[in-house]
Amino acid sequence: MKQININNKPFTYQIKRKSIHSIHLHIKGKNSFYISCPYLTPNFVINRFIIKNSTWILKNSKKIFSCPKLSQLKNLGILGKKYKINITKSPKNSFSINHNTSVIQVTANTLYQHHLKKLFEKNLRPLALDLIKKEINAVIPNSFVGATLAVARRHGNLSAVKESPACNVVATAGRRRKKPVIPSVVEGSRRNCKSSLLRPTKISVRNQKTRFGSCSAKGSLSFNWQIIFFPSDKFRHIVLHELVHLKIKNHSKNYWHALSLLDPNCKINNKWLKTHGNHHFLIKP
Ligand SMILES: [Zn+2]
Repeated sequence: MKQININNKPFTYQIKRKSIHSIHLHIKGKNSFYISCPYLTPNFVINRFIIKNSTWILKNSKKIFSCPKLSQLKNLGILGKKYKINITKSPKNSFSINHNTSVIQVTANTLYQHHLKKLFEKNLRPLALDLIKKEINAVIPNSFVGATLAVARRHGNLSAVKESPACNVVATAGRRRKKPVIPSVVEGSRRNCKSSLLRPTKISVRNQKTRFGSCSAKGSLSFNWQIIFFPSDKFRHIVLHELVHLKIKNHSKNYWHALSLLDPNCKINNKWLKTHGNHHFLIKP
């Protein structure tokens, strides 16, 4: 193990010589990394490589987070609600959440991290999907049905789309028009409406390392299931972020404006997620 100071911060690193063609840097922990390089790489080349990439090392080592040891976990925040965790060893694996008493009861045949990880993920992932779907339903009124929209689109007009009673969004599409007009988020804002969003074609959860959500070209949304461990306003921000992408794919000025109508704190929330997001993960993806 070697040592080096980068910007007065001590780092330890290892050199792994392999049958490869170029040098690579891998962040291991908050203060450690390793270099993989071809067998015959001279040390001065490695040192030069580290110095050249010192900014990258500093930036990415900050992103490293350590997840809690699950066997010692006493509390868990889900959308800002604090749950008490009771884990006991028992021949049978079980996991039950009582939302009324805010207690999560876990029994496991071994308390090893990898085993508990699987048990937590298996049981909390479906909950995440459920909570995300609920949030989407809360944002988009049920009367503004995506299926209706899809049918209307196929027929070349949106006259079949009902108005949303919650906000009087009007899906303005003339019967004679061939091209459907989808009510824009910005247009909705003028009507003081927060619900002119489209429904996703599919909603799924994944276990991504750094991403919190994504929107496909076909209109399906996928979310990192561990966003349920964020405070509720941050969770909502992620859901809204992806919902707005159904209308505006890029991160243009228009996009941020549309998002800010739904989440006035979007800039603050976005910054929080960049800085603290990963640190709230329960399990290392
Ligand atoms: Zn985005």
